[in-house]
Amino acid sequence: MVATLFIDGRWRQASDGVVHDVHSPHDQHVVAQVSQATQADVLDAIGAARASFDSGVFTSWSFKERSDLVLKIAELLERDADVIARKESDDTGKRFIEAQYDVADVIATFRHFGGLGAKVHERSVDVGLSHVNSRIVYESLGVASLIGPWNYPLLQIAWKVAPALVAGCSFIVKPSELTPQSAIALIKAIEEAGTPKGVANLILGPGSVVGTSLIGDPRIDMVSFTGGLTTGQTIMKAAVADVKRLALELGGKNPHIIFADADLDSAIDNAVTAAFLHSGQVCSAGTRLIVERSIHDRVVKEIVRRAGKITLGGPDDELAESGPLISQSHLMNVSLYVDKAVAEGATLLTGGKRSDKAEHEKGWYYLPTVLDNCRSAMECVQEESFGPVMTVELFDTEAEAIAIGNDTVFGLSGGVWSSDEKKAARVASALRHGTIWVNDFGPYRPAAEWGGYKKSGIGRELGEHGLGEYLEIKHIWTNNAPSRSGWFRDQ
Ligand code: NAD
Repeated sequence: MVATLFIDGRWRQASDGVVHDVHSPHDQHVVAQVSQATQADVLDAIGAARASFDSGVFTSWSFKERSDLVLKIAELLERDADVIARKESDDTGKRFIEAQYDVADVIATFRHFGGLGAKVHERSVDVGLSHVNSRIVYESLGVASLIGPWNYPLLQIAWKVAPALVAGCSFIVKPSELTPQSAIALIKAIEEAGTPKGVANLILGPGSVVGTSLIGDPRIDMVSFTGGLTTGQTIMKAAVADVKRLALELGGKNPHIIFADADLDSAIDNAVTAAFLHSGQVCSAGTRLIVERSIHDRVVKEIVRRAGKITLGGPDDELAESGPLISQSHLMNVSLYVDKAVAEGATLLTGGKRSDKAEHEKGWYYLPTVLDNCRSAMECVQEESFGPVMTVELFDTEAEAIAIGNDTVFGLSGGVWSSDEKKAARVASALRHGTIWVNDFGPYRPAAEWGGYKKSGIGRELGEHGLGEYLEIKHIWTNNAPSRSGWFRDQ
């Protein structure tokens, strides 16, 4: 029996018994079987979450008590870290060591929010009246749907679950149907830590089937979603009727600007990592290289050389530096994206096809690809491929670099390389993206907010703001010397 749905404190199989096979992107073997929820299961999970929230079983805990719970979950995740990393690398095809880094980041996320929750205190407001006590208090938002993508499955869910728990929300987690195993492990840790029944619920299945109710049901107060722009837009529309709170972490097409006065050795090395890490399946991937004309040939030649040397391989290949794409359909999309780019006038310098190595035959391996002679107006520059594909554009002036870097509907992240501190600071400030790295690309910390400008999303995860997404703010005005308002005549 496969019972991997968690509803109202109980592990259950799908109400129609349907089971879904999860396949390895490395060689397509079945890595797990999980229950695929029906509409009835989704409604049960929403009902359980709503009932637990309305009962006050969790909101009656103090912020400190809920923070301690979150810290305990961090300990349990640490105890099981390698088991969880194995599941994550099986589902995503990423190397085991990368999955271990991800799980370490998940634990750090729980510790961050566990630490933050203990610091939530009400605030007094001076209203200028000695007989009035005015307080701002922070309360749980309610019931949340927490929906995640497949590229960093547990990490993206952790950014939602940890603050939701600290805030006292009840919730339904729905990971990507392609990568469900690590979310199951997380819910087991949440259960073992002693979370009240009905607070945490887990639904598995394709968003197109189980997603509608998770967004549109009036018992849901909030949707926190990480995934593609189109899905995010669908969710916004479905959330309109109830004016639900939305937290959206969507796509990115992230500019990576290199000035001629940069430390080129470091810039080039980081440019390769930024574009090709995890085969480009990173929302903040620096896939849009914008390079000063005078250094173009040197930079691009070296990036092409380095890209051609990247070793691809599966979860246990110790020599591998990057892994497969998540699925056959994603590989087809990336391949189509590159073909269209070439048809649009981009010059293919390396890659542009599936790996033809025998050991990659059953997997979704696509070679690191560099497209030169790109311009902002081209589709390949504007659209996210979410694969290992770098586009290269040129600039002559600082103003031009900024204009190109901002010429996108997205605004998630960007990088700038220059040895001129003032120039780098000016560019960092002018770029309309949620995270900017100067002379670096990629690092983040749970204590710093993460999120996008423009079509990259709404709201912020992590930092302090990431907890605020799950809180309501209430103003309580208490008059200790009641008197008549005296506004209307009383004759
Ligand atoms: P996706 O939008 O296809 O799916 C994301 C999740 O939404 C999955 O769990 C899916 O089942 C669910 N879903 C699909 N349709 C739904 C619907 N109608 N209602 C409710 N849920 C639905 O995205 P993906 O392919 O899993 O992830 C890749 C995308 O995620 C990329 O665009 C990437 O940039 C983005 N991403 C963004 C961030 C960030 O921090 N901004 C982080 C990671 C990934």
